[in-house]
Amino acid sequence: MEQKRVLITGAAGFLGSHLCDRFIADGYHVIGMDNLITGRIENIEHLFPLKNFEFYNHDVTKFIHVPGKLDYILHFASPASPIDYLKIPIQTLKVGSLGIHNCLGLARVKKARVLIASTSEVYGDPEVHPQTEDYWGHVNPIGPRGVYDEAKRFQEALTMAYHTYHGLKTRIVRIFNTYGPRMRLNDGRVLPAFIGQALRGEDLTVFGDGSQTRSFCYVDDLVEGIVRLLHSDYAEPVNIGNPDEITIRDFAEEIIALTGTSQKVIYTELPVNDPKQRQPDITRAKTILGWEPRVNRQEGLKITYDYFKGLSKEELYKKEHNNFEDYIK
Ligand code: UDP
Repeated sequence: MEQKRVLITGAAGFLGSHLCDRFIADGYHVIGMDNLITGRIENIEHLFPLKNFEFYNHDVTKFIHVPGKLDYILHFASPASPIDYLKIPIQTLKVGSLGIHNCLGLARVKKARVLIASTSEVYGDPEVHPQTEDYWGHVNPIGPRGVYDEAKRFQEALTMAYHTYHGLKTRIVRIFNTYGPRMRLNDGRVLPAFIGQALRGEDLTVFGDGSQTRSFCYVDDLVEGIVRLLHSDYAEPVNIGNPDEITIRDFAEEIIALTGTSQKVIYTELPVNDPKQRQPDITRAKTILGWEPRVNRQEGLKITYDYFKGLSKEELYKKEHNNFEDYIK
């Protein structure tokens, strides 16, 4: 059988790099693309010697040219944490609008199937709990999270328009909080924030009173869900996440127990428009994809912590610093 070729944008990011690994393992030819603003070359360096892997250092908001055939395009390029998209709000809006427009245009030319990374943020601060795909969301378009939430909502709208108007084969995954090895320690997300603090011997900062909830999915489970969705014939959005919900206060306690740190929890101000609760309803994924998460939080957190503990000082430094300053000048 002819080898399938997949383009993965955001290939050097946390999720993008895990997807590259998975498609390489599944025997695909993988073309990774990233402009390395929030992505890290270290995440994919191990793939460079492989003949089935190519990397383009390119900004997807500019015209994309990829020679040869393409069977699939996975659009995973985007800043994805509150700290990142507050620092680079315009780039965040562009990658979710101009970036996906370029991917969809390329997909039409190549007759490729497109899967886009959407997010639970399309539900905003939800008034429906748990969130089903039918819920339209509760988003403040001009709040600090608006640049991300609205970019992702627009991205879904444009993708659906290409599906209905051009008959393009499209898939939309709504990703809930996901964690695992390779996350950046300085991107403000709660799990790397807590692990970084534990490793540095600092107190763990819980925002607000910590009663807000999240549901954390281990990255391998997410990747499996994405692969199944890609190969399904389902064009409506599908939630992929782990429904096991926990308060951020309890989560901090779990990290303290896991890391054995002698530090304590300190409470600081809650960011504006921080969603109060979040839990995916995964009935659709179960029914249509036969998917549900397999890795529980205890196992997943241990693998993730062991990864960070195993990094050298130099690797840890890289995980705590980013490249925006050069980029946004
Ligand atoms: N959070 C926290 N301390 C931190 C970082 C985050 O208490 O050092 C909280 C944050 O306010 C939010 C939750 O943890 O309620 C998850 O935050 P994250 O940025 O990881 O994801 P998102 O809010 O996008 O789900």
